[in-house]
Amino acid sequence: MMRLDGWGRYPSLDGRVVAAASPDDLARLMRDGSGLVARGNGRAYGDAAMGEALTVLGRRLNRMKEFDPVSGNLTVEAGVLLSDILDTFVPRGFFPPVVPGTKLVTVGGMIASDIHGKNHHRDGGFGAYLQSLDLVVPGGETVHCSRENNSELFFATIGGMGLTGIIAQATMTLRTIETAWIDQRTVVAPDLGAALQALDESSEATYSVAWIDCIAGGAALGRSLVYVGEHATRDQLAAAQSERGVLAPAPRAKLGVPLELPSWTLNRASVRAFNEVYFRAGSRTEQALVHFNPYFFPLDGVDQWNRIYGRRGFLQHQCVVPPANAHAVLSEILERFSRSGKASFLAVLKKLGDGTGPLSFPMLGYTLALDVRVTDEIFALLDEIDAIVVRAGGRLYLTKDARQSRDTFEAGYPRLDEFRQVRRAVGAEGRLQSRLSSRLGI
Ligand SMILES: Cc1cc2nc3c(=O)[nH]c(=O)nc-3n(C[C@H](O)[C@H](O)[C@H](O)COP(=O)(O)OP(=O)(O)OC[C@H]3O[C@@H](n4cnc5c(N)ncnc54)[C@H](O)[C@@H]3O)c2cc1C
Repeated sequence: MMRLDGWGRYPSLDGRVVAAASPDDLARLMRDGSGLVARGNGRAYGDAAMGEALTVLGRRLNRMKEFDPVSGNLTVEAGVLLSDILDTFVPRGFFPPVVPGTKLVTVGGMIASDIHGKNHHRDGGFGAYLQSLDLVVPGGETVHCSRENNSELFFATIGGMGLTGIIAQATMTLRTIETAWIDQRTVVAPDLGAALQALDESSEATYSVAWIDCIAGGAALGRSLVYVGEHATRDQLAAAQSERGVLAPAPRAKLGVPLELPSWTLNRASVRAFNEVYFRAGSRTEQALVHFNPYFFPLDGVDQWNRIYGRRGFLQHQCVVPPANAHAVLSEILERFSRSGKASFLAVLKKLGDGTGPLSFPMLGYTLALDVRVTDEIFALLDEIDAIVVRAGGRLYLTKDARQSRDTFEAGYPRLDEFRQVRRAVGAEGRLQSRLSSRLGI
């Protein structure tokens, strides 16, 4: 038995766990077990990586198997961390096609969530760069899946939250880079309309993301810093007369949150003060060469920052809403948060393109993510916000979820039946079950 929770530390429950060290271990577990699900590095916020009866820890499946520098195709076991791929391949001039806001995630976790990065509007999600995967299905066989072979299972596994099988290994295509630096442009957006416009105007840029001050209300509702980025070239670094290493590895994280912070440290005044400083500092620089680490993974520098919300933990609410009426819908959501006084430090706004699998979160539109501390009152507020999302034809991100209702989920994922059929065909129903899948009736 082990105490299990996600990154938000809600819910936190005791569960039976077993570590798998080889594909044979996975096969044995899948032959014998039921009510189980895989767990990568536990960075899903809620209950996605918590098995109903058993959680299979996959971090020990961490070998890199093959790399072809001509095609950029990399084959690794599913427990390999994104940080290991970066450490190994950035110095060789390669970069993962899509990265989330933390590099402390496994390849299996990234596939199961079909993660989106700051380039989703242009390049799609992680699943779009997946060539094939080896999936251990209930019964214990390993099925090799790709766009051509077992394609339904392949697509259902992308974004399938571990509910079609356990991924043993996968082949993905890396992109080439000239340097480890990002040429970053900052656009100061005084309100939500300006932020949406800046994201639209950056459609051709590789990376874009808006950090919203979600305390600001009234005319400043949605005021943001919009960060637009491209991989910097060698010439740009030379022009900046930089003494920095062209493909330099990252400096190590130094900061930490050693204790559970008492809940009063995060009050409205401290959040407001933080946001003011953040916006003033960010507004000062228009263009800069930034190392990829702080650009993509700003919070990884603070060890265990999830403790900042105190013992009861926190929730992330991440929705996506279609482009039509997005301004009105997102304004209403931000206003509710702002008025409630429950808003987090910052919210993140991104533009998304279409998703890859039937259960993939991304859809054409804008995604808004913000953190809230768990309190008795927060659940009712989030239900109200879900209703706005559903009315707008949007959905919530499963890998961030710990509390949405079945109705909200079913309204947001119209291809759910297709996903359930694949699950039935592969014998996963009743066998592969996470707390999330039981809660939502997947
Ligand atoms: C600070 C932070 C920033 C983030 N930013 C983003 C972002 O920008 N974009 C984004 O899309 N996501 C983002 N995420 C979410 C994160 O990328 C996903 O939750 C990711 O799936 C976590 O990977 P993990 O290895 O920790 O997986 P876990 O949390 O352990 O598991 C996540 C899911 O993957 C399944 N899974 C894990 N391993 C396997 C396997 N071998 N086979 C089958 N299924 C498996 C689990 O069953 C579970 O359903 C962020 C998370 C954090 C904490």
